[in-house]
Amino acid sequence: MKNEMYFCPLYSGSSGNALFCQYGDTRLLIDAGKTGRCIGEALESIGVSPDTLSGILITHEHSDHIQGAGVMARRYHLPLYATQETWRAMTGKIGKVPGDLIRTVQSGKGFWLGEIGVEPFSIPHDAADPVGYRLWGGKLSVSTATDLGVFTQDVYDRISGSTLVLLESNHDPDMLRANPNYNALLKARILGDRGHLSNESCAGALLRLIAGGTRNLILGHLSGENNTPVLARRVSETAMLREGIRPGADVRLEVALRDETGEIFVLKETE
Ligand SMILES: [Zn+2]
Ligand SMILES: [Zn+2]
Repeated sequence: MKNEMYFCPLYSGSSGNALFCQYGDTRLLIDAGKTGRCIGEALESIGVSPDTLSGILITHEHSDHIQGAGVMARRYHLPLYATQETWRAMTGKIGKVPGDLIRTVQSGKGFWLGEIGVEPFSIPHDAADPVGYRLWGGKLSVSTATDLGVFTQDVYDRISGSTLVLLESNHDPDMLRANPNYNALLKARILGDRGHLSNESCAGALLRLIAGGTRNLILGHLSGENNTPVLARRVSETAMLREGIRPGADVRLEVALRDETGEIFVLKETE
């Protein structure tokens, strides 16, 4: 339906990311960080045939965001959208992409992908030129911001007022510091300003987004070793309750899982 927007986290986490969005007849993916087969099956499971997609928006060149991008682009003849620096960095990692499927995006420069208005915005992360995306369908908008070391004022300005936000809730800092499988360098990288957002930072950002009018929130890109869905949810819920916001009543809060396709959010213009 024309005045409805659909959003579904197919996969989200450090083991692979692919997010689905639809408005009108335009269907697209943000990232394709699992195998093409995996993503194809996840799409079929929500009733979407992969060959009806209009394109794939890439956030950055880390493998958990591009693993199946080349395969899907070639198999279904889908244009791939990424910043110029991301293209440079991912060339060689996703196989050959035919020239007519290569699209370049730029932070701050909006464009139309079918009926969806797309706004890429820069995020602080240790990649060549990483971006998040705000997607517009009529007055509705969905924003995704994962893989960011800090929730900056600029990111807030770009996504404030979105109907739905999927925000990174990557790790519990204590679990990460105590993890014997991660060396000091890796820990510093994740905790750094160009790493990943902790549960606490995510919760603080969500409060700001709620104050700005957002009512649909998804926690995403959870670490498999340094977080759990229960813990991530608890940190955000506790922060909300402290402010008198009731999760489930005042706002909808979900956790996108690493290996399980999430529910479809149906957003309506009357909301
Ligand atoms: Zn990632
Ligand atoms: Zn990354």
